[in-house]
Amino acid sequence: MNETITYPIVETFHSVQGEGAWTGTNAFFIRLGGCDVHCPWCDTKHSWNAKKHPQQLIKDIAKAAKAANPKIVIVTGGEPLIHDLVPLTAAIKKLGMQVHLETSGAHPFSGNFDWVTFSPKQFKPPHLSIYDRVSELKVVVANQEDLEWAERQAQMVASDAVRYLQPEWNTPQSKDLIFNYILQHPQWRISLQTHKLLQIR
Ligand code: SF4
Repeated sequence: MNETITYPIVETFHSVQGEGAWTGTNAFFIRLGGCDVHCPWCDTKHSWNAKKHPQQLIKDIAKAAKAANPKIVIVTGGEPLIHDLVPLTAAIKKLGMQVHLETSGAHPFSGNFDWVTFSPKQFKPPHLSIYDRVSELKVVVANQEDLEWAERQAQMVASDAVRYLQPEWNTPQSKDLIFNYILQHPQWRISLQTHKLLQIR
């Protein structure tokens, strides 16, 4: 492994996973810079321009994760797949840690992950390479059109992938929309951004 490889790091932090199937789990987050999906409601717009964030060596990123002693390491963004994630996941796994990915799937898949959370966005549709890697489908819903998008995406992932609908935080009506939808469509579950409820990162 070439340990001189670097990635643009927006931030790293130790917290709990706030969303989806691993909610409440002790997690070390690695937020990579760079995203060309540009969701209008994005809560991490500061991550979009990778050049604004310092490059860090993979060995230093992996060491910081190890020092936190988390249950899982989560690679997020930005859109992490804008980068080749093979070296980063190799460095993390070399230190014996479990590594998860959070992605919109907008770029070709790379890396060796134990769990892949796929959150597709209509603003830049996913690359086909993501669909057979998905552990968990998590669709952010602001309106009825998003529910239709969620159903189209659900048809393309494995039947045993967990399916979540997550309210768009700043669209209050999305909660009722999802609640009523799930009562009619039991294959879906609600994902809430519990880190925002708890006012933690
Ligand atoms: S894919 Fe994620 S980081 Fe990129 S714009 Fe959408 S919500 Fe923001």
